[in-house]
Amino acid sequence: MVDWALYIALVISLALGFLGGYRSAKSKPEATSNSLDGNYFKGLNFLLNEQPDAAIDAFIQALEVNSDTLETHLALGKLLRKQGEVDRAIRIHQNLLARPGLNQAQTHQAQYELATDFVKSGLLDRAEGLLEELVTKEGPYKTDGLKCLLEVYRDEKEWKKGLDVLQQLSGSRFSRSYKEWAPTRAHFCCEMAELDLQAGNYFEARRWLKQALAYDRQSVRAGLLLGLLDINVGQMHKGIDQLQKLIYFHHDYTQEIIPYLTDAYQKLGQSGEYRQFLSALYAKSQDVVVLMTLTDLIEQEDSKLAAAEYIAGEVVKYPSGMGLHRLLEYYLFFSEGKTKEYLLSLKIVMEKVIGNGMYYQCYHCGFKGKQLHWLCPSCKHWGSLKSKKAVADAV
Ligand SMILES: [Zn+2]
Repeated sequence: MVDWALYIALVISLALGFLGGYRSAKSKPEATSNSLDGNYFKGLNFLLNEQPDAAIDAFIQALEVNSDTLETHLALGKLLRKQGEVDRAIRIHQNLLARPGLNQAQTHQAQYELATDFVKSGLLDRAEGLLEELVTKEGPYKTDGLKCLLEVYRDEKEWKKGLDVLQQLSGSRFSRSYKEWAPTRAHFCCEMAELDLQAGNYFEARRWLKQALAYDRQSVRAGLLLGLLDINVGQMHKGIDQLQKLIYFHHDYTQEIIPYLTDAYQKLGQSGEYRQFLSALYAKSQDVVVLMTLTDLIEQEDSKLAAAEYIAGEVVKYPSGMGLHRLLEYYLFFSEGKTKEYLLSLKIVMEKVIGNGMYYQCYHCGFKGKQLHWLCPSCKHWGSLKSKKAVADAV
């Protein structure tokens, strides 16, 4: 159901379109003019009788498609799509395309709008067919058509087809558009690499990852996958070296990389070397994820008491909510009676203050989640989620 703001916008836009259509109809036989008149006032009547759905249909019929009213039809279609009335937007654009007399540019525009309706309503197959035809034709809607087709391939997970589209969008090696699309091309290559990694096609996966890094040398995702690939094929030291470099240059992804490093060092049985690496990293970054990993290692290999003493010293040097919370857990473990009760109350209050600890946030739209997504589920930007300490962690 459309809302009243939309009705008002519709009436204004249709009245303007009607006047344009009426002017051109005046030069035509009287029957056309009367039919225009009749449908328009029939629409108004439906609107006054609170039958908005029938009113919109009557208005659409009232508005003859010609060069004066084309923009009104297109604006109306966009407005309806924006309001979630996608079926109606589709009808308007299909109605436009069925009329003879549109020139080539107008046909392309209507095709593009219809394809956008199909994407919005999840009819990806239909959008794909329309766009694949549209992008073969030169004109002002070719680039927009390619961008829309890229979204379709992305949602269909047709990464190879997407890369072909990206090649067309990118243009020549030194153009601005090449630079603009390079990170997206790297992500599409990483998607291909992940499929090959899952299938055990390590040679192909490496080829895709090298291609990804050729597009975007800073790609954390490609660097991470390359490290994992090395570890998977038994080149443990090479993989570890790759992941360590990645952490040093991309602190924002420490939380994502650390578990793989822990796993690799455990497989090698080189815990001492790992602790040295983590200590050096923590001294440089004071990253609480590194502190937690080190504390876990000390607890596993030495004792709970050693871990408590270690974290107590670090929290004094570099205060953090999560560090203090872990220390409180150790104090609880070692305390008894009333002291334990007091500490438990303190822990409950502290958990309310520091929240859920680590989370990821999209710097483009603000989406928050516990899990890292390379493609933001909300705004569909690639690589825009970064880990954030919970706001209260700074307390
Ligand atoms: Zn986002």
